[in-house]
Amino acid sequence: MRDKILDGKGLAKDIREKIKAEVNNIKIAKGIVPGLAVVLVGQDPASVSYVSMKERACLEGGFYSEVHRLDEDTSQGEILSLIDELNNNDKIHGILVQLPLPGNIDEKIVNERIEPKKDVDGFNPINLGKLFLKTPGFIPCTPKGIIRLLKHYDISIEGKNAVVVGRSDIVGKPTATLLLHENATVTLCHSRTKNLSSYTKEADILVSAIGKPNFITSSMVKKGAIIIDAGTSKVGNKLVGDVDFQGVIEKVDKITPVPGGVGPMTIAMLLENTLEAVLIK
Ligand code: NAP
Repeated sequence: MRDKILDGKGLAKDIREKIKAEVNNIKIAKGIVPGLAVVLVGQDPASVSYVSMKERACLEGGFYSEVHRLDEDTSQGEILSLIDELNNNDKIHGILVQLPLPGNIDEKIVNERIEPKKDVDGFNPINLGKLFLKTPGFIPCTPKGIIRLLKHYDISIEGKNAVVVGRSDIVGKPTATLLLHENATVTLCHSRTKNLSSYTKEADILVSAIGKPNFITSSMVKKGAIIIDAGTSKVGNKLVGDVDFQGVIEKVDKITPVPGGVGPMTIAMLLENTLEAVLIK
């Protein structure tokens, strides 16, 4: 079974060690400490935990880290003012606003306010547009991590049928775009897709990003498929992916576990983007 696992945790560890060495070199050569500011609004338990992980990863990598923990009832104007301050703060090279934001805040307006050169999550429309046009810019961390993982394991993408389930602006759409740039034939499915399994069963590479535990079952996957499970749901105290791992493992060629697959790659790509933000300054 082990040879079927796409070990995001192990790869992310190696990437983070290289980044740490690079951060140290930049400190010595240029006297710059790469800095990431994270803005968290409210107390959503998953967001609180993601932000702590990002903060820890920054500190372990030798980055400067600032976390702005704001009350649930913070106004959009106050969040935008904080982003303006961070845009103008020389110690901060990357800015990330943890999503989702409370319902009264317009996430698109908030993401638009982040200076594109500091937009290390890649959600600003300028960076999303650059991604679409295949010109250099920040690529959203989860999709970037998915492609990096596939490439690390020498999984060829060109000419493959790639099916992405989930069309969010932060995972599904950018992942589909990157797979297209790698010359896969891409199908993007969502909650209105009729007869979903007729698409997933044809996938050489299947990416699921819907957030429904164990939703993708053995009868929905092709024999020998590559499965990337980006979904994370809490079931009791356990983190569970979209894919019924035990049910599909015999049938597929490779699969990312949850936890230990896409999640750690996302954090590694965030650090990589923050380092890039220093280099493009
Ligand atoms: P999202 O914005 O809620 O989008 C979910 C997508 O799934 C939507 O496009 C939705 O379709 C689609 N969907 C929902 N139910 C479906 C169904 N029964 N059949 C087909 N499609 C369905 O979520 P997100 O932010 O993209 O996140 C998706 C998952 O990835 C979540 O579990 C999240 O926790 C996880 N995630 C993981 C990482 C990581 O680092 N591992 C990072 C980000 C997100 P409609 O558009 O039609 O509504």
